[in-house]
Amino acid sequence: MDKQKYYKFEIDYNTNHFNEFPHDIFTNEEKDLYLKIKKRKEELGDKLVILAHHYQSKWITELGDFVGDSFQLSKEASMMKNAEKIIFAGVHFMAESADILSSDKQKVYLPNIKAGCPMADMTSLQDLEFAWEEIHKNLNGEKIIPITYMNSTAEVKAFCGAHGGAVCTSSNADKIFEWAFTVGDKVMFMPDKNLGMNTANKLGIPKNEQVLYDLSKENGGHTKEDIKNSKVILWNGYCHVHKFFSVEMVKNLKEKYDDYKLIVHPEASPDIVALADGIGSTKYIVDYVKASKPGDTIIIGTEINLVYRLAEEYKDRNIFPLRKSLCPNMYRINMVNLYETIMDFPEERVITVGDKTKANAKKALDRMLEFG
Ligand code: SF4
Repeated sequence: MDKQKYYKFEIDYNTNHFNEFPHDIFTNEEKDLYLKIKKRKEELGDKLVILAHHYQSKWITELGDFVGDSFQLSKEASMMKNAEKIIFAGVHFMAESADILSSDKQKVYLPNIKAGCPMADMTSLQDLEFAWEEIHKNLNGEKIIPITYMNSTAEVKAFCGAHGGAVCTSSNADKIFEWAFTVGDKVMFMPDKNLGMNTANKLGIPKNEQVLYDLSKENGGHTKEDIKNSKVILWNGYCHVHKFFSVEMVKNLKEKYDDYKLIVHPEASPDIVALADGIGSTKYIVDYVKASKPGDTIIIGTEINLVYRLAEEYKDRNIFPLRKSLCPNMYRINMVNLYETIMDFPEERVITVGDKTKANAKKALDRMLEFG
């Protein structure tokens, strides 16, 4: 299969099943680069660390010193003191977090600076400051704790740090919400409305105390009373990769499989989550599959590269994606730009967060790391 077909296969959403793994299809050029990257890694030893997110393709993860979700990788970044250079095979906000948590002597590189995250970009600092002020006009001194998902810009994390809030991931959002209610009256959560609603539902917060703030409408589209009576104020953002899953797809599973378990990431909408047998972060999904038995059928609702890798690793289970949903932003990291980065460490690929933003964002990230 040639390169062109390889890409075509990756973005062909017409079929749900797969019988071959696209990441097995490797051009000779890519193989050559893979081997050169491995050799260069050996030469650099512990001066270099490559962090690879679970949503990267198999060969990129094979080159990673650590593979994990954003929470695991941010913990690794905070503990690696020897590495002078950190290459983040992920998206922009992850490299920013690594820069915030690493020491000043370390440099963080993103192999493709265009690898952003549309969901993170759905909350700009300017919009957040506007909403924060507008929301407070409805209140009489009640305290709001701003919580941002890891998948947000450094500026938004800094806003949370400066206002007594925290960062959370899909693994610990419930614990961070619980903490927030011990120090404040309300939570304002950015940018992912689904993770926010799923977390609030898990904690038993009634629907009428969850308010979706719509920036395009006056007062977010709510009355003063709505805001005053709310416990959780949600930003109207989402991850398009997880938005592709529908209730219809879940209902169709019954026709295809006799006995199966559906596991989904909490970035999926609450109506999908309500139908799932297991809900959790990428780490949870990996652990779930690991703990399953040969012959089990597991349908997974998250980014396709992780599903492919799990299906390949656990060939004695029947692992299928709820739908082939690829994150095109993670996909911007490839063998070519990883090779260029490890060979030349181009300055334009260094991700640097300004000092003031870093200090405040670190407060919010440290608060998250305290929760383990
Ligand atoms: S999967 Fe969604 S949240 Fe994660 S990087 Fe891609 S767009 Fe952003």
